[in-house]
Amino acid sequence: MSPNPYLRAEGSKERLIRSLSKRCVFCGRIPDSKTVEHVVPKWLPRMAEAEGDFVQFAPLFRDGNFEGDPTLIRWSSFQFPACKRCNEGSAAAEARASSIFKNLVSGRLVNGLEISHLLSWFDKLRVGLWLGVQRINQNPQGVVPNFYINSRVGRDDRLLAVYRLADASLPRLQIGGVGATSFHFSPVAMWMKFDDVVFVSISHLGICANALGFPEFTNRKLINSLLGLFGGRLLPGTGSLPEGAFAFLGLPGSPTLLSQAMVHRWIHSARHLFTHHEAAISRGMPYGSSRIRADWPGGDFAVLEPNHKQFLTPVQRGISGHILPMVSDFCLGLQLATLREAVLSLEADPHELALAHNSLGAASRHHRHLLEARRRAKAAGWSVYF
Ligand SMILES: [Zn+2]
Repeated sequence: MSPNPYLRAEGSKERLIRSLSKRCVFCGRIPDSKTVEHVVPKWLPRMAEAEGDFVQFAPLFRDGNFEGDPTLIRWSSFQFPACKRCNEGSAAAEARASSIFKNLVSGRLVNGLEISHLLSWFDKLRVGLWLGVQRINQNPQGVVPNFYINSRVGRDDRLLAVYRLADASLPRLQIGGVGATSFHFSPVAMWMKFDDVVFVSISHLGICANALGFPEFTNRKLINSLLGLFGGRLLPGTGSLPEGAFAFLGLPGSPTLLSQAMVHRWIHSARHLFTHHEAAISRGMPYGSSRIRADWPGGDFAVLEPNHKQFLTPVQRGISGHILPMVSDFCLGLQLATLREAVLSLEADPHELALAHNSLGAASRHHRHLLEARRRAKAAGWSVYF
């Protein structure tokens, strides 16, 4: 098994960790010609009229305790190194994303291909926040990234849950789920509130495969933690779209769900597992990705045509602001569940588990997911620290 390419380039884990703050958030190299990337792009706080606002991150979490006060930082200062070429390469995607985003939140027409671009933008935001928050918090867990933005966008299945709150409340722009230690290890879920719309961005290997009838990975195990490589059995695609496909996630409330299966990593070796159904569900979309499945509150769902403009506003109104703590708990629960999946199939590192549990306990104000996580952890024979 070849080692983590970023480690191979640098020679040692310690050296890599020390140099992380200088590395390009897109490609992980030390930039030749340095620019800065606003991980939360400037257009977003501008659109939310929140440019002057501060964002608050959890205080430094070390050895089971929080140290000091939370870090306050202006959106405009939340920037990290990037190569000039990488930064320029993302400009077109940002411009496209801002226009799609604006249409979606204001209830205008959007098409399936645009939603695919928007899911890529959320991949970029989630990974950028993961790298950025690690750096702001001085990476106390010593996490070595095995991907950067460029290598992670569009790699694994992704899903966006969209809620519309009964009232717009302040702050107009808010991001959550990214400060927890479990996010440092497992950046699979985060949320963002923009005015009265709340987005939950989720991405994980194979999480949408069943919903879109794509080949599904079962009995999977993490076989290399440095590379984040999973092994397992790949079942042939069915081409069928089951009802209520995302009930297993246990998302709170009744969001609109926009989901997409990705097959980049498998398609060459596993072409025989794909039927004409999956080809049909992929037609017109970027290579390696399915069309978008949209599930509306109430159980209706459809596969969106790539270029057919449609309303995606059945984002249910009337959900109270109380959804935010529940969404936050959901993100932490999913982070822990995927972390658990990873560590149980390796020999678990108790230090890392303790940190993840502690973080979940400290960050969680509502206890449903916390209690469930504790119950599962105990059942799995872990020492429970929260
Ligand atoms: Zn770069």
